[in-house]
Amino acid sequence: MEQLVFRGRVFDGEQTVDDGIVVVDPDSGRVVDSGRRRDVAEPKSARVFAHEGATVLPGMIDAHLHFFGSSTYSLAEWVTVPEAMTALRAVRDMRKLLWAGFTAVRDLGSKAGTYISQAERENVIEGPRVFASSKSLAQTGGDDDLTILPLEISQRLSYSYYCDGPWECRRAVRLCLRDGAEVIKVYASGSFAQGTKPRVQLTVEELKAIVDEAHRVGVKVGAHAYGEIALSNVIEAGVDSIEHGIGLTSELADAAKKKGIYYVPTLSAFYAAKPSANAERDALIKRHLTDDMRLAKEHGLKIACGSDFVGSETEPHGQNYREVVNLARSFGAGTALAAATKVGAELLGLEGGGMLRKGSRADLVMASGDPLQRPEVLAPENILCVVKGGKIYRSP
Ligand SMILES: [Zn+2]
Repeated sequence: MEQLVFRGRVFDGEQTVDDGIVVVDPDSGRVVDSGRRRDVAEPKSARVFAHEGATVLPGMIDAHLHFFGSSTYSLAEWVTVPEAMTALRAVRDMRKLLWAGFTAVRDLGSKAGTYISQAERENVIEGPRVFASSKSLAQTGGDDDLTILPLEISQRLSYSYYCDGPWECRRAVRLCLRDGAEVIKVYASGSFAQGTKPRVQLTVEELKAIVDEAHRVGVKVGAHAYGEIALSNVIEAGVDSIEHGIGLTSELADAAKKKGIYYVPTLSAFYAAKPSANAERDALIKRHLTDDMRLAKEHGLKIACGSDFVGSETEPHGQNYREVVNLARSFGAGTALAAATKVGAELLGLEGGGMLRKGSRADLVMASGDPLQRPEVLAPENILCVVKGGKIYRSP
């Protein structure tokens, strides 16, 4: 097949060149070469994409989302929406994500994620490559236990496997792996959904059992953590990424840095949060958007882009670029773009992903404008081309 040539400003995951070019081989699905136009041999016969002022960047990666297939932001709906409906709505969400320039995502807890992932890999549906956790892991009475229901019904409907004690935690990891999980997600605390102060959940012993069981087969663990104690627990247990990570301190940031733990601050939901009657909640959110981000920056934590969007009306898949915009507010556009490309690929374990270098996966986006100046140009309406694995999914 004819090679593809993309001309314009090129952000390769680390560096930017103004008069750049990316050459893609659709047959191998790899980048043949990229760099300055004067340094790269352009094939004589190729399909050329060039647009005044456009930027070519690696396909974006959302390292934290959920395919809940629910129309509202509601735990009751997340657990009661029929699984067939979840999967069908995910078909729509997958298409929207790809159209918006996301070529890989991590689903950190849903009932259908591993099947959505498999369907994409089998070319049954179109969308980003999905690294799914299958269900999440949580203690009984934990973050997504709808406690108004009898326990056995809550467990049957939940998108978490409830586990208590190290051996149940190990078994829950094994259940996820049996489902096809490529990452493990654990709730080490509650969230604001329960209305009160987020509670610490699972013990360090339980968290260590989860991490050990996952790491024995080379699978990473992402931990939901709100509050200093939960953060301290997950760092001690040796998880691979901290999700949300509310309540950082200098000591905790230092410890996370030393262990090479990724930080996925999921800012979008917190920026969108309205003031509530719960002053403690509001103070924690404010602290996350200010002090936590300052500490993460000062300590040089590895930041990955995760929107935590669930596909509801207020958090619709396809608008996930908002997390890049929000990260740019604290870290600058360069770090935000790297979080959504190179660093995200490292965290997911996406081989050859997140970069546009010779031999990289040909997952790329062409956006009108310069996202390094204005990350808002990554909104879906400004995306001109989307290529995944060398195949064009969107073109002008
Ligand atoms: Zn989440």
